Amino acid sequence: DTSHRPILYLEDVSVSFDGFKALNKLSLYIDEGELRCIIGPNGAGKTTMMDVITGKTRPDIGTVFFGQTIDLLKLDEPAIAQAGVCRKFQKPSVFDKLSVFENLELAMRTDKRVWPTLFAQLRGEQTDRIGEVLQTIGLADQRDFRAGALSHGQKQWLEIGMLLMQEPKVLLVDEPVAGMTHQETERTAELLLSLQGKHSVVVVEHDMEFVRSIAKRVTVLHEGTVLTEGSMDEVQNDPRVIQVYLGG
Ligand code: ADP
Repeated sequence: DTSHRPILYLEDVSVSFDGFKALNKLSLYIDEGELRCIIGPNGAGKTTMMDVITGKTRPDIGTVFFGQTIDLLKLDEPAIAQAGVCRKFQKPSVFDKLSVFENLELAMRTDKRVWPTLFAQLRGEQTDRIGEVLQTIGLADQRDFRAGALSHGQKQWLEIGMLLMQEPKVLLVDEPVAGMTHQETERTAELLLSLQGKHSVVVVEHDMEFVRSIAKRVTVLHEGTVLTEGSMDEVQNDPRVIQVYLGG
């Protein structure tokens, strides 16, 4: 049934560092358009999982597919990003001296920026796209601000906007609300929720209240594999999850 095939498909993925299994037969299936949260204690393998999906770390064994046909283990990091699997790291990296608008312009896919753009530019398509993204990230009023003058939260949204300029199919987001105020956290929840459907979004986050506010489905990693999956209520009441978090 092709209507239910996952956009991201990890099967029995293992990664060892000096004999230590950071991932141990991890299997994970992300549906097209879904917003998935990944939680788990420190050392559970969340970062390693993101590194495998984006091609930064190669597994010893296992399968990693994007859609039905793209074997991500055959692509290098730039090719994976180009294929539409993009990652937002925890720390924002925007160009402080450029305006919000210019940051988004610069983030546009090179192939769209450089060549066909001569024509696209004439038609104003680029500006339209930037305008759309400015609306999505809630920075339309700040479009001419220097990025360096933005708050921490605004910088994070700008960086999400820079990824959106690349029209990703899958967006991997590392701890998006770390260091944010309560209000910024709420705004980030709205932003991520607005992306689902059009994009598949995978969020790794420690802030449980935040996870509860966005997640329909939560995956709990522990010792490099999936401990359990379900709604936030289901996983939070799972005795194995409680055990792992309380370190029993
Ligand atoms: P999480 O992101 O859930 O905290 P990580 O994926 O960062 O977990 O780490 C999983 C385990 O793998 C940890 O025990 C960590 O120390 C180990 N690990 C991660 N990266 C490396 C590396 N490059 N070399 C050695 N050990 C690593």
